[in-house]
Parts: sequence; C-alpha cells; structure tokens
Amino acid sequence: MKAFVLRATGGLEHTVVAEVPDPALPGPGEVRVALRAAALNHLDLFVIRGLPGLPRAFPHILGADGAGVIDAIGPGVSAVQPGDPVLINPGISDYTCEFCRAGEHSLCVDYGILGEHHPGTLAELITVPAHNVRRVPKLEPALSWVEAAAFSLVSLTAWRMVVTRAAVQSGEWVLVWGIGGGVSLAAMRIAKLRGARVIATSSSDAKLARARELGADFTLNHQSLKIAREVRALTGKRGVDVVVDNVGETTWAESLRSLAKGGRIVTCGGTSGPKLVTDVRPLFWHQFSILGSTMGNAAEYAAVVEQLGQGHLRPVVDAVYPLEGAREAFERLDRGEQIGKIAVTIAG
Ligand SMILES: [Zn+2]
Repeated sequence: MKAFVLRATGGLEHTVVAEVPDPALPGPGEVRVALRAAALNHLDLFVIRGLPGLPRAFPHILGADGAGVIDAIGPGVSAVQPGDPVLINPGISDYTCEFCRAGEHSLCVDYGILGEHHPGTLAELITVPAHNVRRVPKLEPALSWVEAAAFSLVSLTAWRMVVTRAAVQSGEWVLVWGIGGGVSLAAMRIAKLRGARVIATSSSDAKLARARELGADFTLNHQSLKIAREVRALTGKRGVDVVVDNVGETTWAESLRSLAKGGRIVTCGGTSGPKLVTDVRPLFWHQFSILGSTMGNAAEYAAVVEQLGQGHLRPVVDAVYPLEGAREAFERLDRGEQIGKIAVTIAG
C-alpha cells in the first residue's frame, strides 16, 4: 500500500510517500480500515523532529487522525461490519491495566497514539482495536471524509481538558490561547457549549475574526496586547476562571496573571517549548489549580462523537491536500497559517 512515511527523524526532508507492506489482517478484537482521509496534528511534527525513543522503527507511517471504511474484521468483532464508515480514536490502550479497568484509558500504562507509538493514518490501510472505531454519525449535510478525519484527536483532547479536567461551568470565564490551533479551537467551541464566556487570542487578526464567527465572545491579539491586562479589563479586574494554554513557555506567566482567585489552568502540551516557570506565591495564595490532560478515555470519545451526531463540533477544515502533497500540508501546519484542521485525502 501507499503511505506517507518518516525514514529518519530530524525534519520534513526525511518524509516521503512510499510503497510499504499492507498491515496484517485483523486479529481477535481488531478491525482493518481502508482510510479515505487523514488529518494533521502538531504531534506529527514532534514525531518528525524526533521524540525520545520514537519512532520505534523506520520507515514509520505518520498520522494520528483518520476516517475510512471497515475493510475487514477480526474474530469476535460485532459492533461494526465491513463497509461501515468509521471515525478512529487515535489513542491505543491495553484495556487490562488498573487505569483502563477504572475507565481511564488515556492513563493506560501502555498508552500509545497512532502515528507516534503505532503505525499511523497517512496510509491506505490501518489495523486498530475495534473499540477504537465508531460509525460516522449521519448529519445533514453529510460529513465529508475530510471532516470525519479531522474530528477525533482535537475534539477528544479538548473535551477532556474543558469538561473533565477543568470542569468548566455555565457562566464562567475561559481564556483560550492561540485559537488557530486545532485543540484550542475545539476547546473554545466546547466551552461555549458549556455556556462559558470565552476570550480567544491569536497573533493574526484574520484568525480572530474567524474565531468570533465561531463563537468567541472576545478576541485579543497577543502580538500587540498584554493579555493579562486586557483580561482584567474585560472581567472587571476579576480574571478568568479557566485558562486553556497549549502554547507553554511564551504564555505561561501571562496565563497565571490572567486567573481569578481559585482559577484553573489546563494544558495538554506546549507548542512554544516545554519548560514552564511558576511563581509559587500566587499559586498558593490565590489557590490556583494546574491541570495536565492527555487525549481522553472511551467514555469521553463516545461523548464527543455523540455531540458530533447532534450537529455540534463539526470540524473546521482549513486546507485539503492529496496524500502525495502531505509534506506540503505539514509545511503549512509548521508555518502556523491555519485556522482549523489541515487534511489529506487518500484515494483508496
Ligand atoms: Zn491500560
């Protein structure tokens, strides 16, 4: 089959569309999906540049997000049948460890993500556990393959951050940094679904205009404005209840300065760098909570797919490329020009 692979870590120059062996036919409890589209995430760029011990072998098939048609099912699978259109949850858990037994699949001791720890979705075929797929919900107008592929990783991640970890309530103030990013945009939309008031930031006025169309109550350009000062002005000096910060090093101090007493800051990563400096004095005095979050569990995935089925959280697609253009697609992601998801179609 054709796949977009990494031949060595270091950069996009090591990526290529190549002919690779088909994945194995599905074993017990597994399904094989003929992919129709895949979507890009910042995670893929981290894998391309190199993470400790990853990937485990080359050539490595990239891509966490994808959607397609069930091509074959293994023994014991009854929830889906060949021909069914499915979304794929990119998080792979063993379903046997103490955390999985407690329903916390993204805390699994053997947790892995497609395209990072396992062969990815930028390929014609992928074999995954059956509990990682769900039928594509029927919508009017119907979801495109590209929209279906763009849904899972950011929606699941943002749901756990906003609903489970930060427990955003109706009427609360939420600050979301870098609204061009897929998780940030999904977090804003989920916070709006929860009835929160959302302040979104970006360095691009065009992205801020789009954010207002998509539900942001207030938008701030973080290139030209001191965010904490603006947040104090917007909230009558109070600050926000929750900050969603996936930027990291360059934003952390302003995030802490933007919080109301008792505020929560939730993060699933740092696109600007991993080392955060936290002054302990406001942390304890104002009783802030710092919350880490990664992907989500099976119940959270079911919840976001149900939201999609009700017409919410339909992915915003920024640009679409053919599989042969996947490197160009990653170059666009790397330049940070997008608002919403960049996707790749797979001919099949
Ligand atoms: Zn587990």
